Amino acid sequence: MQTLDYGTDYADIRDQVARICQGFPGEYWQKLDEAAEYPHEFVDALTESGYLAALIPEEYGGAGLPIRAASVILETIHANGCSAAACHAQMYTMGTVLRHGSDEQKRRYLPEIAAGTLRLQAFGVTEPTTGSDTTQLKTRAERDGDTYRVTGQKIWTSRAHQSDLMLLLARTTPTDQVTKRTQGLSTFLVDLREVRGKGCEIRSIPTMINHNTTEVFFDDMVIPADSLVGEEGSGFRNILSGMNAERILIASEALGDGRYFLDKGVNYANERVVFGNPIGSNQGIAFPLAEAYAQLEAAEMMIRKASALYDSGQDCGAAANIAKYLASEAAWKAADETFQTFGGFAFAKEYQIERKWREVRLWRTAPISNNMVLNFVSQNVLGLPRSY
Ligand SMILES: Cc1cc2nc3c(=O)[nH]c(=O)nc-3n(C[C@H](O)[C@H](O)[C@H](O)COP(=O)(O)OP(=O)(O)OC[C@H]3O[C@@H](n4cnc5c(N)ncnc54)[C@H](O)[C@@H]3O)c2cc1C
Repeated sequence: MQTLDYGTDYADIRDQVARICQGFPGEYWQKLDEAAEYPHEFVDALTESGYLAALIPEEYGGAGLPIRAASVILETIHANGCSAAACHAQMYTMGTVLRHGSDEQKRRYLPEIAAGTLRLQAFGVTEPTTGSDTTQLKTRAERDGDTYRVTGQKIWTSRAHQSDLMLLLARTTPTDQVTKRTQGLSTFLVDLREVRGKGCEIRSIPTMINHNTTEVFFDDMVIPADSLVGEEGSGFRNILSGMNAERILIASEALGDGRYFLDKGVNYANERVVFGNPIGSNQGIAFPLAEAYAQLEAAEMMIRKASALYDSGQDCGAAANIAKYLASEAAWKAADETFQTFGGFAFAKEYQIERKWREVRLWRTAPISNNMVLNFVSQNVLGLPRSY
C-alpha cells in the first residue's frame, strides 16, 4: 500500500516571507504596473533572503529544501499581494542544469545562481507559429565546429531583458530525419550578455499585465558548443523533467492569489452595508465566495499531493497537472467573485483588485493552457484517444 505524507506547513517560512512582503505594499506594485517596470527592489530582497535558491542543493550554495517549501514560499508571496512572477523562474529553471547538465556546468553556474549574482530567469520554448505544439518548433541550432549557429524566433520569453542566461529549446535534427517528433530537440544555456545585439535581438511585448515578457529573434546567433545542456537530441525530455516542478510552483502562486482575493472579498462583504445590511448576508454574495473557498481548499490538497509525490521521487505528472488546473481555476473564481463583491469599487485602482484580477487570469493560459492539461489527463490518465 502506498502512503503519503502531505507535508509540513513551514510556519516559520510563511512568517519570514510575509515579513519581506510587508515592505512591498499594493502601491508599490501599482506604480510598477502603470510604468511597466520590473520590481528590482522586491527581487533583490527575495534574492538576499536566499528563498530563490530554495531548490538548489546545499553543495552548490542553495538551501536544498523540498518542493513543498518552495511551494509555501511562492504561495505566501502571492497571498500577501506581491508577485513572484518577476523571478519565480530563478527557482526552477536551473533544474534542467541540475538534472541534465555536466559537472562542469553545475559547478560553473549553480553557485552563482544560488548567490543571485547570475540570473537564470528566461525560458525560451514557445514560438509564434507553433504555440502549444512544442515539438514542431522551428528555431534551428546547427553544429559548426566548436559552436552552434541558431536561427529562429521565440515569443513570450519572459524576463529576457532582466536575465543573464536563457534556457533555450531548439531543433538540432530536422523533423524529417527523426522517427518521433519529440526527438532531435536540444536544450542550450545561452549567455544573453554575450549575444545581445550579436545575432540576438530582444523586444518587449506590451501586455495587459506587468510581466516583462518579450519576443526574441535569433539571426545566425553563434554560441559555444558547450552551451548544450545534456545530450544533443534529448532537449524535449530535459524540458519535460522540469515541467512538473513548474506546474506545482505556479499552482502555488495561483493558490496564494486566490487566498489574497478571498481575504479581500470576505472583509469587504462583512463591512459594506447596503439596504441596511452587510452585503455578505446576501447568499448571492456569500455563496460564490464560499464556493471559491471550497475550490481553493481542494486545489491546496492537490498541490500538497503533487509536492509529496515529487519530494518522495514518485511519478507526479498527473497530480502536478491537475494541481495547476484546479489552482488556476479556483484562483480565477476567487478573483472574479471578489471583483463582483466589490461592485463598482473593483474598478478603482486603489482597491488593488483590478490589477490582481488581470494578473491571475494568466494562470489559466500559461505556462500551459488548461485545455492542454485536460488533454494530458484525457490521454494519460483516462486512456482516451488523442484528438490532434
Ligand atoms: C504573459 C505570458 C508569459 C509567458 N511566458 C513564457 C515564457 O517565459 N517562456 C515560454 O516559453 N512561454 C511563455 N509563455 C507562453 C505560454 O506558455 C503559451 O502562451 C501557452 O502555452 C499557450 O500557447 P499559445 O499562446 O501559442 O496558444 P495556442 O497553442 O495557439 O493555443 C490557443 C488556444 O487553443 C487551445 N488549443 C490548442 N491546441 C489545442 C488542442 N489540441 N486541444 C484543445 N485546445 C487546444 C489552447 O488551449 C488555447 O486556449 C507566456 C505566455 C504569456 C501570455
